[in-house]
Amino acid sequence: MSEVNRQWLLRQRPVGMVKESDFELHETPIPKPGQGEALVKNLFLAFEPAMRGWMEDRESYLPPVGIGDVMRGMTVGQVVESNFDGLAPGDLVSGFTGWQEWCIGDANVTKLAAGATPEFALSILGATGMTAYFGLLDVGKPKAGETLIVSGAAGATGSVVGQIGKLEGLRVIGVAGGKRKCEWLMEELGFDAVVDYKNENIGERLSALCPDGIDVFFDNTGGEVLDAVLARINLNARIVLCGAISHYNDEKPAPGPVNYFNLTPRRGRMEGFIVLDYLERFEEAAAKLSAWCGEGKIVWKVDVQEGFENAPRTFKRLFSGENFGKQLLRIGTASGV
Ligand code: NAP
Repeated sequence: MSEVNRQWLLRQRPVGMVKESDFELHETPIPKPGQGEALVKNLFLAFEPAMRGWMEDRESYLPPVGIGDVMRGMTVGQVVESNFDGLAPGDLVSGFTGWQEWCIGDANVTKLAAGATPEFALSILGATGMTAYFGLLDVGKPKAGETLIVSGAAGATGSVVGQIGKLEGLRVIGVAGGKRKCEWLMEELGFDAVVDYKNENIGERLSALCPDGIDVFFDNTGGEVLDAVLARINLNARIVLCGAISHYNDEKPAPGPVNYFNLTPRRGRMEGFIVLDYLERFEEAAAKLSAWCGEGKIVWKVDVQEGFENAPRTFKRLFSGENFGKQLLRIGTASGV
């Protein structure tokens, strides 16, 4: 066992596009678990676009990561030594233990469901699957036969939203960047249509695909897509504000959507949500999503990069669209499982 615990600390608050130099690689001794603590070796880091917001010094649903602190992030690790009731060596656990190779686990980590792999736990059974499930069903309140648009459709969250939409009997149109992702949505996930926002005129394409208007929009990106959808909504449309990745690296606040006032004559509802609001109902969604995956009704995809030293580089992939599936980084291997 190497004696050193490598950590990625937040060196400075990013200005504009997040840079690798906003983080600093730090070495510290591997922690020793005290009474009521376990030593956990992290195996996977999971990345999600909202982490860019956690780097800002502003109030949000979680406090900002402090300068010099370990970058916050979801992990899966393996218990190596334990003085904590309920955790034993070999157990796989998940938690917000951050970008570091070793950590102390106690009530801050949760044992993975029996048989769940780290990849499954960090994607479909993690915040991603929960966000798709509750955002679409609880906030979007879709009805069979309606037209659903999903932006960021080939991403970790969007791809699950679209597939749940199909299971709910909706007509599903995905907005994604590039031919490869658009083909995957059509050929493997069974979307009804796609808009390649990098190569097509979004408004013209939505008009052609939705002559009868749009009922539900699950928005992961904001920006031009949000505006184009707002111009084409039906009576009582629901806009689910899940994320706005097109703005996360803006240096100055972007102007709001021009077409927002269409919500008034169309009696539309635009509503944000944070997946953590649904913590008490995670088991319900996990049971449903696991069953759908087991029956082959939902396909989930992970994009696994390798090596702890690549954490900042891997995070940046989310903002260029290089990631294809839930962005993970493998930083260690489990023993005996
Ligand atoms: P993801 O979709 O797997 O990855 C991000 C994707 O965003 C990229 O692959 C890229 O896809 C797209 N993208 C990047 N820059 C863009 C831009 N400027 N304009 C348009 N698209 C851009 O990530 P995820 O983890 O599933 O997150 C998706 C969204 O859900 C994010 O906005 C995130 O903040 C939000 N979210 C919200 C909650 C909540 O509780 N509200 C929870 C989890 C996630 P293309 O190649 O198609 O461009």
